[in-house]
Amino acid sequence: MSLYHRWRRERREIRRQNDKDERERRHNAVLSEKERELESHRAKIEISAGVIWECLSEMGVTSEELEVKMKEIEDRGWAINPPSYYRLCPKCGKKVFDYTANVFEGTCIYCGRVVNMYPGDLAEG
Ligand SMILES: [Zn+2]
Repeated sequence: MSLYHRWRRERREIRRQNDKDERERRHNAVLSEKERELESHRAKIEISAGVIWECLSEMGVTSEELEVKMKEIEDRGWAINPPSYYRLCPKCGKKVFDYTANVFEGTCIYCGRVVNMYPGDLAEG
C-alpha cells in the first residue's frame, strides 16, 4: 500500500471516530438535559409531598390515616395511570395543563397567561 493510501485510510478512520464522538457527545448532552429536568420535577414533587404531609400532621391527621389514604389512591390506579390535571385560565377561561418545565406553572396556549398550578387548586380530567 502506498504511503498516500495509508495516509488517506488513516484520515478516514480519524474522521469516522470524530463523527462517532460527536454523535455520542450530542446524545449525552440531550440525555443529561432530560435528566436534569426530571430531577427538578422529582425534587419539587418531593418538597410538595413533604409540605402537604407536614401540614396534615399539624392539623392532627395521623401517619396511619395518611397511609390508609395513600392505599385508597393507589387502588384507584393513579400510580399506573395518573389523571391529567388542569386549571381554568383566569384570563380566557380555557383549560391550562402543566406541561411546561415548571411543574407549578402552566402556560395558557390560547392567551399566553402563566397560571399557578398548585396541586390543591387543580381539577381532574
Ligand atoms: Zn388563557
